[in-house]
Amino acid sequence: MATPKRLFLGLFLLFTVILILSLALLAYFFMQPEAQIFQYALLFILIALSIIAAASLMALSLATVSLLRGAPPPALSRMVKKIIVFLFPIIVQLGKLLNVAQEKVQGSFIGVNNRLVEVNNQKVASQKLLVLLPHCLQDEDCPHKITLDPFNCKRCGKCPIDNLLSLAEKWQVNVHVVTGGTLARRAVKMLQPECVLAVACERDLSSGIVDSYPLPVWGVLNERPMGPCRNTRVSLQALEEKLEEILGSNAHNN
Ligand code: SF4
Repeated sequence: MATPKRLFLGLFLLFTVILILSLALLAYFFMQPEAQIFQYALLFILIALSIIAAASLMALSLATVSLLRGAPPPALSRMVKKIIVFLFPIIVQLGKLLNVAQEKVQGSFIGVNNRLVEVNNQKVASQKLLVLLPHCLQDEDCPHKITLDPFNCKRCGKCPIDNLLSLAEKWQVNVHVVTGGTLARRAVKMLQPECVLAVACERDLSSGIVDSYPLPVWGVLNERPMGPCRNTRVSLQALEEKLEEILGSNAHNN
């Protein structure tokens, strides 16, 4: 089940509050006569913290407004995404300190990312969309090498790859099966898509979204009935709905 977006936004808010309180404490210390000896170092830290606090506050407010009401102007939207992507590792560490499972924070971040991509409502031509599928969707006993070319699949129907290829054919989109970040980056470099629709677990999706910035990445979580990285599944209906949303009237438009 998807983790609510409010978890990531709540941790983000907590981070911003901690930052502002630290700033107030430092400013108080800066004004003490005993602090004169460190004044240049303190001034530097104060300026750096003020910039990060202002950026966090702006990104948090705009992200919340975007999630609730729609997109901010595109330039601001890019800035919000940049700040969120930059602060994501810190938010994950903050979650860890509070005993919040890393997977939950990553899942919530993916939800926030998807919503920010969604509110921009960018439609792309089918050939400009890259669908990235994880190798763990393939049946673990299948001998066919589909990472070189997904169409090496013999379409036996034993795993979801068969139906996923039919979906890619129907919508005429590029599809690659990848074993991790290196192959995913190679596919992105080769095809230069305008948008990526990626299926993966929380960890791979969140790192892929961060690595690919500023390229918009829609994330769809896989299902793991047999545990991680083994004979995983994905909802075809969820993927088709996303394809419809991303391609819109551009569907099949080469
Ligand atoms: S559908 Fe069949 S041939 Fe294709 S990857 Fe899955 S198991 Fe292999």
